[in-house]
Amino acid sequence: VCDDYHAPAATGVSRIALTIRDGRRVSTNDAYLEPARPRVNLEIRGDTLVDRVLFDGRRAVGLRTAAGEEIEAGEVILSAGAIHSPAILLRSGIGPGSGLAVGSNLADHAT
Ligand SMILES: Cc1cc2nc3c(=O)[nH]c(=O)nc-3n(C[C@H](O)[C@H](O)[C@H](O)COP(=O)(O)OP(=O)(O)OC[C@H]3O[C@@H](n4cnc5c(N)ncnc54)[C@H](O)[C@@H]3O)c2cc1C
Repeated sequence: VCDDYHAPAATGVSRIALTIRDGRRVSTNDAYLEPARPRVNLEIRGDTLVDRVLFDGRRAVGLRTAAGEEIEAGEVILSAGAIHSPAILLRSGIGPGSGLAVGSNLADHAT
């Protein structure tokens, strides 16, 4: 049982998967990215925000950064997390455009 992980109102016990090396938790970066850093076919860009994926017809051919730089790629693997991956896809024209409607759930306070 790990006290850090139970919801305040929950009861019960379950097993959870933790990434642990030598008895200590390690981040996704330390577990996966750092060992891959020396690869000659890997370029890591920090402080670079992806705006959208670029397409040639139905094929992803690169991406555009928030700074406006366009980067060509033979293959695009989108892994911006559970929240930002769908947001990037929406900005790229994939999925319902109505999802981009800022304030669509706005409701006036009851008076
Ligand atoms: C507190 C916590 C503890 C966890 N512990 C474990 C564990 O011990 N073991 C385990 O297996 N899983 C664990 N998980 C789950 C695990 O972290 C996730 O499943 C995993 O990180 C998902 O990987 P991902 O690459 O899909 O997304 P993420 O790790 O979320 O990576 C997405 C990356 O994309 C970047 N990004 C987002 N938007 C943009 C953009 N527009 N442009 C450029 N970059 C962008 C983000 O900065 C981020 O670096 C834990 C999760 C949490 C929240």
